[in-house]
Amino acid sequence: MANSKYEYVKGFEQNDTLLPQTWIVIRVDGRAFTRFSQVHGFEKPNDMQALLLMNECAKAVLEDISDVVFCYGVSDEYSFVLRRTCTLYQRRASKLISLVVSLFSASYAMKWTQFFPETELQYAATFDGRAVCYPSESILRDYLSWRQVDCHINNQYNTCFWKLVGSGMSTAEAQNTLKGTTADVKNNLLFEKFKINYNNIPPIFRKGSIVYRKQMDEVVKVEKGEVIKRLRAHIVVEHEDIIHDGFWTAHSYILAVGSKNKQQQALPRPAKPKLPSSLP
Ligand code: ATP
Ligand code: ATP
Ligand code: MG
Ligand code: MG
Repeated sequence: MANSKYEYVKGFEQNDTLLPQTWIVIRVDGRAFTRFSQVHGFEKPNDMQALLLMNECAKAVLEDISDVVFCYGVSDEYSFVLRRTCTLYQRRASKLISLVVSLFSASYAMKWTQFFPETELQYAATFDGRAVCYPSESILRDYLSWRQVDCHINNQYNTCFWKLVGSGMSTAEAQNTLKGTTADVKNNLLFEKFKINYNNIPPIFRKGSIVYRKQMDEVVKVEKGEVIKRLRAHIVVEHEDIIHDGFWTAHSYILAVGSKNKQQQALPRPAKPKLPSSLP
């Protein structure tokens, strides 16, 4: 009720407005998924169905929140990039994080049976979330590269680890064997001991997943022999390299600020400095 004597308590709320004109990244991460993956019998190191379910939840977030322009996922985490000009919830961090987290978690439960028809969901999967602002495209790309490098390093280690365990080693022995080894040594081990070429492992495991609205030329109709095309956006899930320039050059529209930049226009202009009326 407006103007009640209790309304003063609103004054205790803290301002958590995220910096304007920065890229907002909201990353969700599964809570205690080491246990969750054991309880639900995930294949180690990579359960394909679990990854596909994560991707589907990311699609649900992208479909629902138009300010989300790009998503990157690996293991039990997903990063959501919100456009620089986003003004949803006046950029309040707690609102944005809780929106993404609840949308993601609810989708996970809703879509579970689609991906695990034989496995009953034992308890709700929960996710934590955080928001970080990146001031430039180049730092945003470094953030995404960091996550993809992490995916690669973890996957290479985990692939070796679970192969060694599968061949009869204890987990402690496998850990010792891999301690301090370089990427080359791990690749050689996979090839020589297990006849696995690391580069032939499915890209979803090596590179993680990206979800975005892909612009594609679509044939609308053929008129008097002329093909009429229209640019349409479709949500896609891919497993591309996002570290090098190739992907971003080919899809420059993802991070481009559109010409209809209403939010930018709505930003308060910096006040002109006031000169003292009587200069000495
Ligand atoms: P926290 O709550 O701190 O995040 P966590 O147990 O979730 O703890 P993470 O560092 O997030 O720890 O690691 C995710 C865990 O979930 C790892 O143990 C990983 O092996 C497992 N996991 C996630 N996705 C899959 C998958 N698709 N297949 C197999 N295991 C998975
Ligand atoms: P907290 O949750 O307490 O804020 P945190 O950010 O370290 O701590 P996570 O969100 O679980 O915890 O970390 C996400 C991922 O970041 C982990 O998979 C971890 O391996 C990775 N990570 C953290 N620091 C580094 C680093 N310096 N180099 C590479 N990977 C890192
Ligand atoms: Mg986790
Ligand atoms: Mg994690």
